[in-house]
Amino acid sequence: MHVDPRRAAGPDGPAGSGGAVVADPEAAPIAYEGGRLQVPDVPIVPFIEGDGTGPDIWRAAVRILDAGVRAAYGGRRRIGWLEVYAGEKAQAVRGSLLPDETLEAIRAYRVAIKGPLTTPVGGGFRSLNVTLRQQLDLYACVRPVRHFRGVPSPAVRPGDLDIVIFRENIEDTYAGIEWRADSAEAADVRAFLRQRFGIGLREDAGIGVKPMSRGGTRRLVRMAIQYALDRGRPSVTLVHKGNIMKYTEGAFRDWGYELATTDFRDRVVTWDEVVRLHGGRVPEGRLLIQDSIADIMFQHLLLRPREHSVLATPNLNGDYLSDAAAAIVGGIGMAPGANIGDGYAVFEATHGTAPKYAGLDRVNPGSVVLSGVMMLEYLGWNEAAAAVTSALEGAIADGAVTYDLARGRPDAREVPTSVFADHVVARLAR
Ligand code: NAP
Repeated sequence: MHVDPRRAAGPDGPAGSGGAVVADPEAAPIAYEGGRLQVPDVPIVPFIEGDGTGPDIWRAAVRILDAGVRAAYGGRRRIGWLEVYAGEKAQAVRGSLLPDETLEAIRAYRVAIKGPLTTPVGGGFRSLNVTLRQQLDLYACVRPVRHFRGVPSPAVRPGDLDIVIFRENIEDTYAGIEWRADSAEAADVRAFLRQRFGIGLREDAGIGVKPMSRGGTRRLVRMAIQYALDRGRPSVTLVHKGNIMKYTEGAFRDWGYELATTDFRDRVVTWDEVVRLHGGRVPEGRLLIQDSIADIMFQHLLLRPREHSVLATPNLNGDYLSDAAAAIVGGIGMAPGANIGDGYAVFEATHGTAPKYAGLDRVNPGSVVLSGVMMLEYLGWNEAAAAVTSALEGAIADGAVTYDLARGRPDAREVPTSVFADHVVARLAR
């Protein structure tokens, strides 16, 4: 289906093209040519405000992001926001939790941002994240984790943790290949393994398959290395469980090193080379490629966080690591995320809808604001990203913060979401 450049899913417009119109007449779609985004001065960016507390945090976030762009570029650059619907609002206005127009708009405009969505329990619901991941091949889940001064944390020195996790998003656990223990398929697979390989499994064993490919690993590791090089980060750590699963997790490590030492040969050095050839010191200007077994990585996050900067991990390791790392710096209220492929990206708050706070103007908008910061960086609008980060940091340090941050800080005062946003915007207007 064709999506009109300035129209997409909405309740009011002509059938077929949806209805909501981008308010800014200069807004234009982002293009993708030669492996690079072509971002106009006023890119159309679809947003989904989300369910539950989604509208509360989105209202705050959009003001902060717009103020950041204004602070960095005056009026020259702006974001042409385009609302698209998913979740409960989509059900109300379009009669579907995930209208096709929403998927089409995100495909057409390439870069989108979303608040949290309710996941209804029971069958029949297409999850937006799963659908987008599959349709747009968003093969990397990217989660930056760092501490903001004034955010209560269980760690003694949370500021030492400053990492970006690149987690493979399509294979491994997310391939979703498994059979219930009492199914005919599981019985067939057990019989095949017994007859073909002499592997005897219990008759009541469920079966899961863990596919990890060279191609899938290479593109994920390539994205992580390129990110580290572009941002001057010192190292990329390949995290795996290769001591036990040699041909999946172990292969992830081997394929990662192979990619690093062929495609990026002049710009990287492996830990082995550092020890053998460079007297234990990383040569000036080289990106260090190292690896760590997953369980040791959890210890390192707590005990030696400064030794890691960018992590590249298979799906399941990355799942655990992302949330554990977020907890160290104070929890999910401030943890942003993105699902990224080649020329497509969807940025999102990593927490859920927190329904008990819906409409109360209470929760922390930090996660969706920082997802917006990631989005600005992805667009190449680094000045705006830096302005928003610094204003957010300043507002938190001032101590007038949302309930979750005030809870662990005797020196802080609780303010509503909207007032917190006022403070951040005021800093950006200075
Ligand atoms: P949740 O919505 O993340 O809420 C769990 C707790 O996390 C909240 O009670 C609150 O803790 C804290 N929290 C969440 N968002 C916060 C914010 N912005 N500021 C401050 N604290 C925040 O998890 P859930 O209750 O398990 O899930 C609720 C719904 O969200 C479910 O339908 C689930 O499927 C969905 N979900 C969606 C996504 C997504 O769309 N990406 C992700 C996860 C869950 P306190 O009450 O202790 O302060």
